[in-house]
Amino acid sequence: MALTAVKGFNDILPDESGRWQHIEQMARRVFELNGFAEIRVPVLEKTELFSRSIGDATDIVEKEMYTFTDKGENSVTLRPEGTAGVMRAFIEHKLYAADPVAKLYYLGPMFRYERPQKGRYRQFHQIGAEITGVHDPLADAQVLNMLTAFFREIGLTEPTLQINSLGCPECRPAYRTALRNFLDERMALLCDDCKRRSATNPLRTLDCKVPGCVEATAGAPSVLDHLCSSCDDHFSSVRRYLDLSATPYSINARMVRGLDYYTRTTFEMVTGLLGAQSAVAAGGRYDGLISQLGGPAIPGIGFAMGLERVALLLGSQNFSSCPDLFIATMGVGERDVAFRLMDGLLKSGIRVEMDYEGKSLKSQMRRADKLKSRYSVVIGENEVASGRATFKRMADGAQADTALTVAEIRACVMKSEQ
Ligand code: ATP
Ligand code: MG
Repeated sequence: MALTAVKGFNDILPDESGRWQHIEQMARRVFELNGFAEIRVPVLEKTELFSRSIGDATDIVEKEMYTFTDKGENSVTLRPEGTAGVMRAFIEHKLYAADPVAKLYYLGPMFRYERPQKGRYRQFHQIGAEITGVHDPLADAQVLNMLTAFFREIGLTEPTLQINSLGCPECRPAYRTALRNFLDERMALLCDDCKRRSATNPLRTLDCKVPGCVEATAGAPSVLDHLCSSCDDHFSSVRRYLDLSATPYSINARMVRGLDYYTRTTFEMVTGLLGAQSAVAAGGRYDGLISQLGGPAIPGIGFAMGLERVALLLGSQNFSSCPDLFIATMGVGERDVAFRLMDGLLKSGIRVEMDYEGKSLKSQMRRADKLKSRYSVVIGENEVASGRATFKRMADGAQADTALTVAEIRACVMKSEQ
């Protein structure tokens, strides 16, 4: 039987990896410009970290985690998201002692046992960023502006930003009660999941995609009408900062997030181009998380974006690089000269390819075309004897005469680059 990858786990092949590198480089550039430093944490953590942070009554913890018992009888889980591990490290290494304000970003694979479909996989990749130690809504606005800047820099007009506030432990209980009372009267209309959620996690019913539930909850009370005055002020300030920086957004009072640790500001970058997989990036404030995990009472805010979905939005744009020069030889006699030139040019930073197998000139030139080499040089007995050759631009056949030296060929490549 042929060996294949595990269902929902993808290979990223060489013709796609250029796009992935482009996304990653762009994110690093934008995040580092904003003062964020990379943190690298393990992909495997103790199961308890996720049940305590994400919440027991969430889809992730209830049914999506890759949890198993290791040979030492410990329950461990492949991380379904990045924030919990980053905050575990923040606390464990007392990063807050030197400065409670930390700006961290991470990237890497995440694992969730979901039904695979376009834009939804069992191993997927996120780039995320977190700011700790800032209560001020200015941090919320900086994070949102940074996310907006990333999508602008990468050249995508989709997705668009939606924001909401989920209140805090002061005001959310009253909202939950109001929502639960509303749901109690419509229980018969809800799907089985939502019947259960209305007791355990009623906010999640607003997120249900089942048409009956969408209809039944259409007139549900709005969380924004139940914010306490400090949450209301916070949300107004976030909006004011976004307006000050001319960041486009809309308010979506039905947006709830699938993780329990969020407080106050929550947000998603949403697209209509990926079907049900509409969220490309998502996040929010988590003022209680760090203390919940045993750390000091330090607030935080952050987001994660799904790289597979960003890559899908970028489409088939080509980001892989092509050789600068292909050196072809008329016969085997010129291969030493060609090899020495290639070696010298590679050492000077010019990307060169040559034939590996002693093929005919015609097939060498076919290969130069296939690799999309920008220039070519053909070396025969005459070129070796005279020490000169023709430097040719592949796109239009334009020619120049060059000495067969590293310095001069390099100069030809550099000159035509300008
Ligand atoms: P969804 O509603 O699509 O399930 P989510 O709310 O579970 O998303 P988050 O936990 O907020 O997603 O993760 C942030 C981002 O990670 C999402 O916006 C999405 O781009 C990406 N993501 C989440 N789950 C997957 C998955 N199974 N496959 C691919 N990308 C994913
Ligand atoms: Mg999900």
